[in-house]
Amino acid sequence: MSKKSLNGQLILSFTIVLSLAILLFGIVQFLQVASLINENKNQQKQATQYLTANVFNFVDKHKKVVETIAFYITKQGEISDAETEKLLLAVKSQNPGFLNMYIADSDGTARVFYPLYNDKGEANVGVNFLDRDYYKELMKKKETVISPVFKGRGGTKNPLVAIASPIFNKEGELSGYVLGAINLNEFSNELLKKSYGQQTSPVVLDQNNTIVVHKNEKLRINMTQLTNKDIGILASSKNDGYFYSNLTKMKEYITYAQIQELKWKVWISRPAEEVTNEYLATLFKMGTLLFIAIIVIAIISYFLANNFGNQLKQLVKYVQQTVLENHTTDSKMYEQIIKGPQEIAVVAEKFQILANTVQQKRKQLLDLNEDLEKRIIERTKSLQKSNNELLAINKFIGSITKTENVSRFIQSFLKEIEPIIPFPLHFLFKNQSVSTERILHDININEYLATQTKGETWHIEPIYLDQAQSGFLIVDLMEKESISEGDQRFLKMLANSFSIMIHNKVLFDQYRIKHAELNAVLESMSEGIVLVNNENKVIYFNSFITRLLGKETAGLHPFAEEHLLRLIESLGDYNEQEFSDFLDESSDNMKFRLRLPNRIEKTYFIWKFNVQHENERFGKGYVIRDITTEEEIDFLKSNLISIASHEFKTPITTIKGSIETLLRADASWEEEFKRELLVGVHEDINRIQELVNDWLDISKIESGSMTLVKESVSLQRIIKQVINQIPEGSADIQFIKPAVGEVPIVFVDKSRIRQVLVNLMTNAIRYNDQAHKQIVISYLIEKNQVHLSVKDNGIGIQERFYEKIFDRFYRVESTATRRTGGTGLGLSISKGIIEAHAGKIFVESQLGKGSTFTITLPIK
Ligand code: ADP
Repeated sequence: MSKKSLNGQLILSFTIVLSLAILLFGIVQFLQVASLINENKNQQKQATQYLTANVFNFVDKHKKVVETIAFYITKQGEISDAETEKLLLAVKSQNPGFLNMYIADSDGTARVFYPLYNDKGEANVGVNFLDRDYYKELMKKKETVISPVFKGRGGTKNPLVAIASPIFNKEGELSGYVLGAINLNEFSNELLKKSYGQQTSPVVLDQNNTIVVHKNEKLRINMTQLTNKDIGILASSKNDGYFYSNLTKMKEYITYAQIQELKWKVWISRPAEEVTNEYLATLFKMGTLLFIAIIVIAIISYFLANNFGNQLKQLVKYVQQTVLENHTTDSKMYEQIIKGPQEIAVVAEKFQILANTVQQKRKQLLDLNEDLEKRIIERTKSLQKSNNELLAINKFIGSITKTENVSRFIQSFLKEIEPIIPFPLHFLFKNQSVSTERILHDININEYLATQTKGETWHIEPIYLDQAQSGFLIVDLMEKESISEGDQRFLKMLANSFSIMIHNKVLFDQYRIKHAELNAVLESMSEGIVLVNNENKVIYFNSFITRLLGKETAGLHPFAEEHLLRLIESLGDYNEQEFSDFLDESSDNMKFRLRLPNRIEKTYFIWKFNVQHENERFGKGYVIRDITTEEEIDFLKSNLISIASHEFKTPITTIKGSIETLLRADASWEEEFKRELLVGVHEDINRIQELVNDWLDISKIESGSMTLVKESVSLQRIIKQVINQIPEGSADIQFIKPAVGEVPIVFVDKSRIRQVLVNLMTNAIRYNDQAHKQIVISYLIEKNQVHLSVKDNGIGIQERFYEKIFDRFYRVESTATRRTGGTGLGLSISKGIIEAHAGKIFVESQLGKGSTFTITLPIK
């Protein structure tokens, strides 16, 4: 915030104070003007009352005259027309307000009329006024009637107001009436000549809102009827107010009254400007006055403030001089500068005394300060040194653990602290020595002191490792006898730090080795390990996990525990209950199956454990183990028993039956029958033998003890032999040789390869529901391999079983398998044989159309 100058502030203050006073005065004036205006309005209201009274008096007076004549005629009973005429003349001359008067019969015919003739010179007597409204009203009411404004028949331009009063005969019946027509000219003149205030316009309306009196004679003569629209006040229920008049086309202040007896309305209007003019003029005058007053005040304030301000400025200048010049001033100096009010002179004098005292104190303070500064510099220097020492030590301890070569590190450290310690330093630790110049091995302390130091005296600090003295820090004192206490302290600290550093280094190395060992163990484990910290972040997983989840682990860094579980959830096949138990910690293990990227499905066992040490929990871990083989062995074990019992039971039962039959002593069998039984027994034994052979083969393959008697043979020959082995008529077998190329010679165990081909062809016939079974055998040579395929038009195999059918005991569930009955060992043995020949076997198929088994063998 910017500060105003003193002058500015003074002027502002003066102006505000005085302007407030003037404003107050202005408000009082304003209130007075407002009350004046109110009075003005009141006067207009009173004038309206006055107008009301005048109208009423005029009409009432004329009404009474008419009523008196009627009363007189009624009282007299019979009265001649001549006499009546005289009476009317007398009354008319007395009351110039009447334009004419007449007396009529009850049927409305004028009997006596004054004046006798109308403006057109026609006789008025005998004219009938039966159609007049006042006549009708009179007949009805039978009392004095005052008509609204109407035009007479006499041809006069002026509208009239008629006052008619009834005459009664002796029987009290209405026998006629007296009528006096008021001359509205006369009425207007009489009313308007009276004063109702400046610029005012009095108006009188009859019961039909027709103008009775108005300044504008034309309106009156035309019998103008005013509507609510013309005069706003007619529409309002107020007695006064500002309204816009359609007649005068201006805003007017109107005061209004009603004459109940006549049902007439009167008001006085005055242009609104007239009412407020005074107010505005006064307001303007006051505003001008205020403005001038403020200007004058500002000017006066300016001079006053300037005068006062100048004195203060002088004082300020004086103070500034005294402060800036910084010396004890002449005690009378202020008298020359300050000429202003006495108080300012007193302030200046007091200030001078104060300034002088301050000056003295300042000098003392400066001296003190100088002394202090010196001491601080010294102290800073010593602190700087300690700081450097501490920094050095800190660095020493902090960075050692990462350094492989401790001796080199100590040497670089010694070079760094050389400027701090004014003596050469040497470290001796377990037969090794380090100085800024060299590193030596296999040297003891005495030898070292004798050969490697320059001086004759040393300061030696011992170095401990695990409380055993293991080395020395040697300070070569050169020619000096002793070192300072501060340096001694530092050296002690240095020796301690060295101990700590060495201790840390040993611990660190131990830790590093342990870590490396642990890592090697974890990495070489045949189980997967995942370690999770307390924030549920995976901090370690071994390569087993990477292999297991493959690319799924990529892009998951930081890999959270949740990801692992989600991966299992999304990719794995598991028991829902087991998984939820595992998630909500009610179980610490579960089994799941996973299809690996190479499409092989495996079973895993996951087990979780807490990682903790002495009640402190660091997180948890997961162990994942591949239990596929165990699972399979379990499966095999149970399968083996059921298959063995099933496959052996049937032939053994038949053999037993046949033998029992043959052994019956009570029967003698025909040779033919005996032979038949023995052939059956022979076949069954063959089946059992085949089964046993299969198992033997499997166990040989399993244990890797299958021996192959390899020789070079023509593949074509083997194929032909096998085709011949297949019973005639069981299928249409075609052997397609390539058009060109050599006859492939393979180096194989021919009986084993035959065994494989027989198995493939038997399967091709067995798993075939066609009436016309077809087998196509073909081969193809590519580089140094031969691809031999056996194609059938059988039931086919779904893609998901392509791998499975080569598993032991695996059979695809179908009517064909159920019908034929088999062990599920054939393909497994075939695969074992082919793999023992360093070959491959696989299948491609179309469900319902047929399968093609292909064997790939190397060519010698
Ligand atoms: P087995 O014939 O005793 O059942 P294999 O190991 O020879 O045992 O065959 C395994 C399974 O593979 C068979 O049960 C059958 O479901 C399927 N299979 C083998 N060969 C064919 C084929 N040519 N067409 C259709 N399915 C076949």
